[in-house]
Amino acid sequence: MDLFLDKDQTEFQTHIARWVEKRLAPQAAALDRSGAFSRELFKELGELGYYGVMYPEAYGGSGLKQPYVYYTILCEELARASMGFAATVCMHASAATHTIYAWGNEALRQRYLVPAIRGDMVGAFAITEANAGSDAGSIRTRAAKADGGWRLNGTKIFTSNGTIADFVTVAATTDPAKKVRGIGLFLVDTKTEGFRVGRKLEKFTTHCSDTAELVLDDVFVADECRLGDAEGGFLNAYKALTIDRIFTAALAIGNGRAAYDAAFKYATEREQFGQPIGKFQAVQFKLVDMLAQLDQARIYTYYAASLADQGRPITIEAALSKIIAADGCNEVCQKALNIFGGYGLMDEFPVQRYLRDSYFPMIGGGTSDIMRLIVARQLGL
Ligand SMILES: Cc1cc2nc3c(=O)[nH]c(=O)nc-3n(C[C@H](O)[C@H](O)[C@H](O)COP(=O)(O)OP(=O)(O)OC[C@H]3O[C@@H](n4cnc5c(N)ncnc54)[C@H](O)[C@@H]3O)c2cc1C
Repeated sequence: MDLFLDKDQTEFQTHIARWVEKRLAPQAAALDRSGAFSRELFKELGELGYYGVMYPEAYGGSGLKQPYVYYTILCEELARASMGFAATVCMHASAATHTIYAWGNEALRQRYLVPAIRGDMVGAFAITEANAGSDAGSIRTRAAKADGGWRLNGTKIFTSNGTIADFVTVAATTDPAKKVRGIGLFLVDTKTEGFRVGRKLEKFTTHCSDTAELVLDDVFVADECRLGDAEGGFLNAYKALTIDRIFTAALAIGNGRAAYDAAFKYATEREQFGQPIGKFQAVQFKLVDMLAQLDQARIYTYYAASLADQGRPITIEAALSKIIAADGCNEVCQKALNIFGGYGLMDEFPVQRYLRDSYFPMIGGGTSDIMRLIVARQLGL
């Protein structure tokens, strides 16, 4: 499908697709099996400049005029080979670094953002806690004022890139009575005393995207590492997470495209009753429905990204793109597995991985029902 990308965007897509085919795709199944983070590939992509898509040249970025469409392309293409690797990158080069670019001072940008864009450092973003997921406003991690800074105490869960991160933006409350308005963002260097990884979490989906529980035991954070105002910090984060819904939609689409391509090829090769299974109308209908869901998701997601590039409001569009792409591509992956029959359940074929990975975008960054809630509120319901 031609998405009417312009010449430069098409060239960008071709370049990243080539790297994905050559470098990421051949390792994707092994990374999924081992659950390992490939520092080699991560570093390579940084050296190629892809983590700077959304940042100015002064920090080693690309200085692009439509950063969100470019970043959407990047997420989609990486997820075509490995949603796990793509999720690692997506968190690192967006939410985790954006907080420093948007609200960090110049020294913090030089110390963390510049090496992160080069691929020399890994970033993470920790809001969720065991008892505060969808209801992020009720987090319990405390930030208490101390001389020259803040002392953080609490435990975070489900933090992507948690065991491999060099720095983590942590949401903590300075005043629980103020609920959401009392939550601020604090940049924590993972070498700081009192910070530790509680445990690496094993999971059903996106195996090679690292997920962890993080413990903050009286971690000191200097005043300049409070990102944005203490009072408005969480609302800052909320804005950063809005655009990330579009990128999560792109991850779903990349993975869904991989499932569709694999199922289409299989349908033309696998023979039963003396003919390719793609000649059976039931299989054809599944493939056509998959294409319809994918194209709908792609068109809407790129539309939302281009609205963001124009500086237009995207609260509704970002949530809708995540619903359409995440739920739609999960269905695409279910149909792909069905077309593969018994082979679909075997580890030697990638469709079982595509289906497992397709659940991540439906939950990570806010569940599909929370997206529905956001849209309903915006509609005044
Ligand atoms: C692989 C993975 C990576 C993640 N990475 C990060 C990360 O890097 N940083 C981070 O901070 N978090 C991260 N998360 C956390 C993620 O954002 C949360 O899991 C998600 O927001 C849902 O929270 P929860 O799991 O506590 O589910 P809950 O909030 O307990 O929800 C359980 C169910 O209840 C429903 N529900 C809850 N409230 C409502 C409501 N008001 N109306 C209707 N239905 C409702 C939900 O839709 C869901 O179906 C990650 C999660 C996963 C799985």
